[in-house]
Amino acid sequence: MTILECKHIYKKFGGITANNDVNISIDEGEMVGLIGPNGSGKTTLFNCISGVYKIDSGEIIFRGNAIQKLPPHRRTPLGIARTFQIVRPFKALTVLENVMIGSLLKSKSPLEAEEKAREIIEFLGMTKYIDYTGAHLTLAYKKRLEIARALATEPYILMLDEAMAGLNAAETKEAVEFVRKINDRGTSIILVEHVMEVVMPLSDRVYVLENGKVISQGLPSEVSKDPLVIEAYLGG
Ligand code: ADP
Repeated sequence: MTILECKHIYKKFGGITANNDVNISIDEGEMVGLIGPNGSGKTTLFNCISGVYKIDSGEIIFRGNAIQKLPPHRRTPLGIARTFQIVRPFKALTVLENVMIGSLLKSKSPLEAEEKAREIIEFLGMTKYIDYTGAHLTLAYKKRLEIARALATEPYILMLDEAMAGLNAAETKEAVEFVRKINDRGTSIILVEHVMEVVMPLSDRVYVLENGKVISQGLPSEVSKDPLVIEAYLGG
């Protein structure tokens, strides 16, 4: 069943059409990759879905309801969560406190929020850092913390923006494993990554953006052979 459908999304910045008639959909439990060269409109689409940007036209249907007019703080409780390309954990707060910011949203008490936060921290293998402040984590763990905080809002769909950019090979491998674990628990995931080698093995389906338009979509094996995609990555 479709959980999120973006229909004919347009978003302009001055003379630049960052999203130009974008159509994408994601099913319950699916992992979808969104790839494309720098400036192709991936982050803009995330911002449109999460409500950071108001779309110029089009429709965003989430679990059967049009949400494009809702502000971001009304979308998160519905079950849409995201991370940002530039990590921004609360540096003075501990890992536990950071994750509780997420889990408080759907908890009846601070105690319940803390229990949920501890469970997610354990699930993502961060228990030994639970009392560290955000400022004292490596980039890989800062990124993992942001994912933990997003997951703590109990989303149906998790949007990860460059969750693996800047990580070394070992850190990337670990990140791939826990992203798969999150998906295995049933959360739908949209993965924006610049690096094709990361997205292709993880994704059930892939969309490729170029200049604000979807130029290719389908199974990773099909998309990676598409001449338009090869051109977009190697031609520019
Ligand atoms: P990607 O995430 O694929 O690298 P973006 O969505 O960040 O691409 O950008 C798509 C285009 O929109 C780029 O040309 C970028 O410069 C432009 N853009 C994105 N956000 C803004 C903004 N807030 N103001 C002006 N232009 C923007």
